[in-house]
Amino acid sequence: MSRTATEPQAGYALTLLSEDEEMFRATVREFAEGELRPRVEEMDEHGKLDPALIKQCFDLGLMGIETPEEYGGVGASFFTAIIAVEELSRVDASVGVFVDVQNTLVNNALLRWANQEQKKKYLQQLASQRVGAYALSEAGSGSDAFALATRAVGRDDHYVINGRKLWITNGNEAEVFVVFANANPEAGYRGITAFVVEKGFEGFAVGKKENKLGIRASSTTEIILDGCRVPKENVLGEVGKGYKVSIETLNEGRIGIGAQMIGLARGAFEAALSYTSERKQFGKSINEFQAVQFQLAELAVELEAARLLVYNAARLKDTGRPFVKEAAMAKLYSSRAAEKIASKAIELYGGYGFVKDYPVEKFWRDSKIGAIYEGTSNMQLQTIAKLIIENRQPKVQ
Ligand SMILES: Cc1cc2nc3c(=O)[nH]c(=O)nc-3n(C[C@H](O)[C@H](O)[C@H](O)COP(=O)(O)OP(=O)(O)OC[C@H]3O[C@@H](n4cnc5c(N)ncnc54)[C@H](O)[C@@H]3O)c2cc1C
Repeated sequence: MSRTATEPQAGYALTLLSEDEEMFRATVREFAEGELRPRVEEMDEHGKLDPALIKQCFDLGLMGIETPEEYGGVGASFFTAIIAVEELSRVDASVGVFVDVQNTLVNNALLRWANQEQKKKYLQQLASQRVGAYALSEAGSGSDAFALATRAVGRDDHYVINGRKLWITNGNEAEVFVVFANANPEAGYRGITAFVVEKGFEGFAVGKKENKLGIRASSTTEIILDGCRVPKENVLGEVGKGYKVSIETLNEGRIGIGAQMIGLARGAFEAALSYTSERKQFGKSINEFQAVQFQLAELAVELEAARLLVYNAARLKDTGRPFVKEAAMAKLYSSRAAEKIASKAIELYGGYGFVKDYPVEKFWRDSKIGAIYEGTSNMQLQTIAKLIIENRQPKVQ
């Protein structure tokens, strides 16, 4: 798939996909329906991804969507990665975020900041066999990400990193970690540096795995860096520029979370649409009652609005235009829409919506994370407010 073939054209509807994009969507949907759906319930119950699915994600090219073909990737657009996350999340948001973190955070950070040798080594591995993770958050630094306490001290040809990362998605499956540590605390956030750390490096360990409300099959773990020895050649970007790596990567990553949320919302909506046509009360399908029809119509509008925001942010990013405000809006709105749609789907199922034999309670549990990771909803509002106030036009007299 060539990058030009997926390039959006101004003036066309956002939801009109190119032929390549349509083909890609169909392939991911077939995989999600055929391979993923039968495993969703068990993976959620046991809180673990099926390793067979991980291999299939690599075989299908889902782990290196934007990675150029010379490094073994698909060489497609960011929008294509968004389609993958949406389609997977329509069936299971855990696999959605597994693929999302690999593409929109780890590969993205390397594509943007890695030097030639790092790209050749790590992008190739990440496209073909190794799972990646992005380790910024700590127990004491979440929204205030630059307050991180992990320290890196330079020695001869390597750095020694000490600290603990918390909440790291893909922590159990990953072998390549983008880790943020402060190499010069006196300089404040200008000491933050990004490193590529391999699971096998001395002093690296994966800690406790969280037992979560939602996206249970996605592993969320602590990462322990106890005198972790990282070669100097594994600094990603420049020393002291890690804050830029983290902000800019997360700006893009947020669109991926938006895609996870619209996928999940669509899964819940389609389930509600189908259930309300089958369920009979008072001698007819419940979707024949206008009150139910109006609720479905409201949900359809929410889903469409969220989808347009996510697609627009992704298309803007692909065309190299400013997209930070639009990405924040997309994440904020789509996480709210997903929660609302999944919650209403439970009500439309009645008692059956409240039990695990039906899919909608899981959609709602999974939706809650959208307002938390990659910047809470308050942080998105802060970004939007800052940008609209900074960019306000002078009033015409
Ligand atoms: C399942 C899961 C997966 C995750 N995956 C990753 C990962 O892969 N990599 C990674 O680095 N991190 C990851 N995270 C961490 C996630 O990004 C943080 O949880 C998130 O940034 C919020 O930080 P916090 O939990 O410390 O909450 P806090 O920052 O303590 O926020 C608590 C509340 O206070 C509000 N608040 C805080 N500051 C302000 C302010 N200035 N103004 C207004 N309101 C404010 C917040 O909006 C929130 O409502 C993950 C978290 C979870 C739960």
